[in-house]
Amino acid sequence: MKHIVIVGGGFAGINAAKALGNKKDVRVTLIDRNNYHLFQPLLYQVAMAALNGGEISYPFRKMLTKYRNITIYKGSVENVDLQNKKVQTEFGDIEYDYLVLACGSKHHYFGHNEWESFAPGLKTIGQASEIRRRVMEAYEHAERTQDPTERKKLLTFVIVGGGPAGVELAGSIGEMSRYYLSKYYKNIDPKRTRIFVVHSGKQILKEFSPELSSKAARALELLGVQIWTESKVTNIDENGVQIGKERIEAGTVLWAAGVRSCSIGKTMGINTDSSGRIPVTELLSLEEHPEVFCGGDQARFELPGNEQLPGLASVALQQGKAIGKNILRDVAGKPQKPFSYFDKGKMATIGKYKAIVEFGNTKLSGIPAWFIWLLVHIYFLSGFKHRFFVLLQWGWSYFTFGHATRIVNREWRFYPDGDVVE
Ligand SMILES: Cc1cc2nc3c(=O)[nH]c(=O)nc-3n(C[C@H](O)[C@H](O)[C@H](O)COP(=O)(O)OP(=O)(O)OC[C@H]3O[C@@H](n4cnc5c(N)ncnc54)[C@H](O)[C@@H]3O)c2cc1C
Repeated sequence: MKHIVIVGGGFAGINAAKALGNKKDVRVTLIDRNNYHLFQPLLYQVAMAALNGGEISYPFRKMLTKYRNITIYKGSVENVDLQNKKVQTEFGDIEYDYLVLACGSKHHYFGHNEWESFAPGLKTIGQASEIRRRVMEAYEHAERTQDPTERKKLLTFVIVGGGPAGVELAGSIGEMSRYYLSKYYKNIDPKRTRIFVVHSGKQILKEFSPELSSKAARALELLGVQIWTESKVTNIDENGVQIGKERIEAGTVLWAAGVRSCSIGKTMGINTDSSGRIPVTELLSLEEHPEVFCGGDQARFELPGNEQLPGLASVALQQGKAIGKNILRDVAGKPQKPFSYFDKGKMATIGKYKAIVEFGNTKLSGIPAWFIWLLVHIYFLSGFKHRFFVLLQWGWSYFTFGHATRIVNREWRFYPDGDVVE
């Protein structure tokens, strides 16, 4: 029996585990600091009170219950001893024959970690709940204040970063303020909410064609979002954002600008790239340690021409499956297969009935794109019950124009690993 240790049960880790599940001659240990798989692409729906955290997460024990050869440990892996083939965890060392690293990524504040408490990012359920709390609290404070300057500040939201996550957050705040919240307050008009997307590049959603990117920009503008391109944030504090000589006074700032791979690669003494990602060969393993595999956001996989694969769920999912199959081939004494990525296209949503989808030369926007986006996201949610209830909950909040989960939690404290706790 070969022992395979998988660190991280995200899209890469869970698909590697499934590929190895109930296969002969292997036993698997999956270690994750959470006891659930999280569907990150719908996190912003939790942040914007359209869904609850439980609806986009699924317990590993339930998900992998049919695989008799998989053991699950909840805990954090702190280091890897490559020479002695051991992972060091908070609950002791675990030896492996093969190791799969799939720890994903976390937010990167470009050397300004002090900005995190003023501008939380969106990677975990804790962070989504904290963003929801801040957004809802801003409206509650604005309703009670008598000071018009303070009210204007409270009704100003800045999103740093114009990638898919930034655009989705900005679109949701725009939609929520204009269509859902406007009827619930007496002293303020939520329709007057100001939303800024501050983006350092020339075009938002740079992964998409300029044509689709400008369609997305127009859809955002219709929701009251102002887009500042070629604008670099130079400081963030509790009262807003500094962009060179310009300043935006804002009650809420959200970070969607940069990500960095989780830090395990660094502790292993491996040469990682500038984003902390571990370079892998075409077999998705480490050049000097062919028994160690890495996939998803944590891996740096180069395509011919120095091009790199983006940090997407579909990349992680395909790499996880490929790693599992390569380990099985190796255990069986067969040659491993190089990984090749099948590009299924990309998509981003701006709000209800507003999305963009691009695959090959096909470019779609508006209602057809939004339905494709919705179906793809629902389809990939784990578990039938989940899909059904999420669809129901969404449908309900869309038809009733009310967000059932719009409650305000108490304040959350930040943990250094990017998670938050009450
Ligand atoms: C808000 C948001 C929206 C997104 N939208 C899209 C989208 O629309 N389409 C798309 O394709 N992609 C999207 N992505 C990106 C996609 O979610 C990631 O590319 C994908 O999750 C990467 O998968 P992964 O398996 O590499 O890592 P992850 O899914 O991040 O999983 C990593 C796992 O490792 C665990 N872990 C980390 N460190 C340790 C440790 N030291 N010890 C133990 N466990 C550890 C974590 O708990 C986690 O379960 C989005 C991401 C975010 C945050």
